[in-house]
Parts: sequence; C-alpha cells; structure tokens
Amino acid sequence: MKQMEEMILREGQVLSDDILKVGSFLNQNIDTDLLYATGNEIARLYEGCEITKILTIEASGIAIAAAAGMAMGVPVLFAKKHRTSNVDGNTYTASVHSFTHNEDYNVIVSRDYLHSDDKVLLVDDFLANGHALRGLIALCDQAGAEVTGVAIAIEKCFAGAGDKLRAEGVRIESLAAIESMSREKIVFRS
Ligand code: 5GP
Repeated sequence: MKQMEEMILREGQVLSDDILKVGSFLNQNIDTDLLYATGNEIARLYEGCEITKILTIEASGIAIAAAAGMAMGVPVLFAKKHRTSNVDGNTYTASVHSFTHNEDYNVIVSRDYLHSDDKVLLVDDFLANGHALRGLIALCDQAGAEVTGVAIAIEKCFAGAGDKLRAEGVRIESLAAIESMSREKIVFRS
C-alpha cells in the first residue's frame, strides 16, 4: 500500500537495525487518514472471505483492527496481555515472547468471544519474529476457530517469520513489507 510506504519513508525512524519507530502515525499519535485507508485496504484484500471476527493483540493492534472491522462490518476482539500465568479458567491462553520488551507474557481472550464456527482474520501493527502472531493462532486453535488469514500493517521481511508462516500455509497480507532497513535507507519488497 503506497500510502503506508510513503508514510514510513517520511515519518518512520529506524532506531536500530531491527526497530522501526512509528509513534508519530501508527503507534501513539495515529494518522486517521492513513488508518482509514488501512482499514479499507484490509477489507479489500479479504473481500468475499466471509470473515466473522477480527482478532488482534493489545495495545497497538487495536486501532488497525477496529478500522478493518468497521470497513468489513465484523466485530473486533483483542487479546489482553498478562504478565503472570494466573488467569481465570474461562479463557484461552497462550504464551508470547515480546519483541519490544524481550520477556514472555500471556495473551488471553474470554471463551465467550471466540468460537469454533468463527472465521478469523488476525491483525497486528508489525510482524517481526512471528511470536505475537503464533500466540494469536494458538488462541484460535484452542477455540477450534479457523484462521482465514492475517493482515499486517508493517512486515519486517528480513526477520523471516512471515515467509516461514506462508510456507506453513498461512495467508499473510502486509501493507508495507520491509526487505531491509538502516538509518540511511529503507527498502520495500516489490
Ligand atoms: P513479533 O512477535 O512478530 O516478533 O513482533 C511483533 C510485535 O512486536 C508487534 O505486536 C509489535 O507491537 C512489536 N514490534 C515488532 N517489531 C517492531 C518495531 O520495529 N517497531 C515497533 N514499534 N514495534 C514492533
């Protein structure tokens, strides 16, 4: 998606070889024109797929998921993050390794909101090593729900997890796919 790539080039800050800061338009201060276009693009990509639910992870996935949910007319569910393993019994739970904090945490969703007849679209802001995504897939597996596909705002292709998941049969659509990045240059996958 051209608009996402252009915004990354204009506003994104490469903090180190593997961290891209997008706080000025996606993660903290949200550019609503871009968000609106992102929701519409995700809806276009998954048109006709009969998605019944979007699942994301708090906090930075929620705005993107909500934009896509509104464009598609489907509900949005977000997995909550818990530091401890003490969670009440009425939940699906999976362990995730945090890319940004380098620690493990649990993601949980209530069993009331994810069901075996759901066709789920997973949404997140970034795909790097795939831990967050695999956690969301595990929640769907526990519920017996189908993972129809994944929509990611920014994939860091050089981390390799996106292509590995694709090879495992997961449909992944990235709105901007970064092949390589440094403080001097960001190169997108064509
Ligand atoms: P993964 O689990 O795929 O390694 O990383 C994905 C998660 O880590 C996303 O939910 C995102 O919040 C965070 N993340 C990964 N890479 C970046 C990055 O370069 N910048 C920011 N702001 N967050 C990232």
